[in-house]
Amino acid sequence: MSFTEFRAPANHLIDTVLPVRAAMIDRGSAERMKSGMLDHVISSGKAKAMVLSQRQALVVDDTLWLGDAEPLFETLQAAGGPLTAVYLGRTLAPSSVPAQTPIVLFVPREPIAPGTAGLPADGTWTGFRDIAARLGSIDTALFVEASAISNWHATHTHCPQCGTPTGIEAGGWVRRCPRDNSEHYPRTDPAIIVTVVGSDGRLLLGGGGPVDAKNYSTLAGFVEPGESLEQAVVREIGEEVGVRVTACQYLGSQSWPFPASLMLGFTATTDDAEARPDGVEVTRARWFSRAELQAAVLAGEITISTRLSIARSLIEHWYGGVIEDLQP
Ligand SMILES: [Zn+2]
Repeated sequence: MSFTEFRAPANHLIDTVLPVRAAMIDRGSAERMKSGMLDHVISSGKAKAMVLSQRQALVVDDTLWLGDAEPLFETLQAAGGPLTAVYLGRTLAPSSVPAQTPIVLFVPREPIAPGTAGLPADGTWTGFRDIAARLGSIDTALFVEASAISNWHATHTHCPQCGTPTGIEAGGWVRRCPRDNSEHYPRTDPAIIVTVVGSDGRLLLGGGGPVDAKNYSTLAGFVEPGESLEQAVVREIGEEVGVRVTACQYLGSQSWPFPASLMLGFTATTDDAEARPDGVEVTRARWFSRAELQAAVLAGEITISTRLSIARSLIEHWYGGVIEDLQP
């Protein structure tokens, strides 16, 4: 499901910000703090488990494969050794499983061959980008949440204060150092992503890589420590394309845990008419009127971000409707 397919109830903000994406999973953030919670869920006989390893999930027929958690836990441990387990929450709508099904994430160190260790023979290890356009909304939410938390576990195995290997608590949402008792929580890196609009209403898009490449998108960059979101917008746009932002407005966000980003969408205005790409992060920048952008896409002259990304939602927010893609 694409970012733009979600629709919130009508309210006074709906004309100015992006539609709110409703949560698909009840994460049970209080429930998961209880001691032994994860063991209890796994042994309840009701929980299903998804399997993710090295950023790929096991998928069957464009659906996340979900196995019975209890037997799978045993067989995966026997086949692949220590297993990271995380409580993802309860599904809030029917999918391949009924609503309110508790879902656990198992992360073997390496992808285990389908057909072994309780895994389906017709499963394939698949990355998010390769399947996202065909996944249902529950599966998308599970894949994104699982990616975010497993990326954090993979890169935060030791205490940052003393270097001791940390243990996992709270259903997989806290790591604790056994030596100094410090607690460590999952990290998210904020990044701003921006439509820059000129005084004539045209949109500035840019791209990296070869100067003759066809792909154009919104400009984006990470927020630095000690910086507000608005300051990051002004700095990044100035650095990347030499354009001075005069005002900016927050429009909406999207989790993008590849590996750990939270994309914060803005629209910004400028009085500058000329863009000067830095030649490093941005090698091409171009202004488009609405008609020019649609025509360039349909002519195959440029490509813009897919509907998976908040970039497309931001561009269509500026456009005022759906931009037609060139049909293959
Ligand atoms: Zn420590």
